[in-house]
Amino acid sequence: MRIQLNPEKCTGCQICEAFCSFKKERAVWPARSRISVLKWEKEGVFIPFVCQQCERAACYEVCPVGAIARNEETGAMEVDESRCLGCKMCVTACPFGGVAYDPDRGRAIKCDLCGGQPECVKMCPTGALSFEREEKNALARKRQGAERLAKYIDAIGR
Ligand code: SF4
Repeated sequence: MRIQLNPEKCTGCQICEAFCSFKKERAVWPARSRISVLKWEKEGVFIPFVCQQCERAACYEVCPVGAIARNEETGAMEVDESRCLGCKMCVTACPFGGVAYDPDRGRAIKCDLCGGQPECVKMCPTGALSFEREEKNALARKRQGAERLAKYIDAIGR
C-alpha cells in the first residue's frame, strides 16, 4: 500500500500539509509536514509529493545505524528517532525528497502512513490523494504518469 498522487485533482489548497503537521507535531506547520505540495501558481500546476515507501528504499540502504526499517503491518518505512543520528544521509539519498530533516530535534522525519490511515488522504477534499495497492496494470499507470508529467513540464516551461 502506498499513497497514490493524482496531481490533476490537486488544487494546491495545502490542507494535506496542515493536517499532516497537526497530526505529527500538534501544530499547523507546513514546514514539518511529511507531505509537500509543489506549486506553480501562474500556470495552475500543483503537485503533491510524499514518500512512496519504495521496495528498495535508498533511505534504508544508506542509514549507517539501521534507524530506518519497514513496518511490516503498514508497509511504511519508518524512522526510529531513538537511533537516528541526524546525519542526513537518508535525506540526501532519497531521489524524490521523501525524507526531511527536523533541525529542532536533530532527526530525520518522513511519512509513516499514520499507522495505515494516512491523515492527508482522509482530509484531501478533492481526492488528489488515495491510499491503494499498486494497480495491476503498472505499465498503463506509468504511461498515464509520464503523459501527465509531460503536460506539466510543458505548462511550466521547463
Ligand atoms: S539521519 Fe538518521 S535515519 Fe538518516 S541516515 Fe542518519 S541516522 Fe539514519
